[in-house]
Amino acid sequence: MYTWHLLTIGHLSRNKFWGEREDTAYRKALATSTLISGHGQHIVVDPSLPGEAMRQALLDAAGLCPEDVTLVFSTHYHLDHHVDPLCFPNAVWMMPEKELNYLHAHWAEYLRSFPGDKEETVARCIPAPEEIAPGIRLVPLPGHTEGISGLSLDAPEGRVLLTGDAVMTREFYQAGEPYFFGWDGETGRRTIASLRGKADVIIPGHGEAFLTRCWE
Ligand SMILES: [Zn+2]
Repeated sequence: MYTWHLLTIGHLSRNKFWGEREDTAYRKALATSTLISGHGQHIVVDPSLPGEAMRQALLDAAGLCPEDVTLVFSTHYHLDHHVDPLCFPNAVWMMPEKELNYLHAHWAEYLRSFPGDKEETVARCIPAPEEIAPGIRLVPLPGHTEGISGLSLDAPEGRVLLTGDAVMTREFYQAGEPYFFGWDGETGRRTIASLRGKADVIIPGHGEAFLTRCWE
């Protein structure tokens, strides 16, 4: 059994469910970051803050520091889900293999879309196995990117699914819709539909955690 805390509650640069236009960035996006603790591990998923801010978030949420983190998992290759590759000096950092392969193969092109990322990202990351820790399984959720994968685990609340950007926020889950950009929108739509009944709690890529039973 694991426990989890949100380190950041993410938000989007634009959210059409709030009446915002998709061709305008209203704010800088922030990904939802989660801490999972149990079985002697402290795991950070989708770290979205730079070093000192992450240090404060870990202290505030759990009395921990980046040195205590044993494992980091980024759900996909987008920069806002692995903001500071120099953070967490003692952690193994994992990413789905397809996503890591994409970064290796398209680094220069990737930097044009996500300027400012550091080569340490690819240097640090290793491909995630199907089970990243005892009872925490990789769940492929293609659409937003080709290789994006979430994590499934059991917690006191029931089955918890961290989706990364396969589900952006609760509103996107309710509507069954992917974000306005991505690798393949139709695949993303099918992925969201396939999640119905699969989890008690969803932690989305850019919003608050929510109970699925309230919204299915
Ligand atoms: Zn993304």
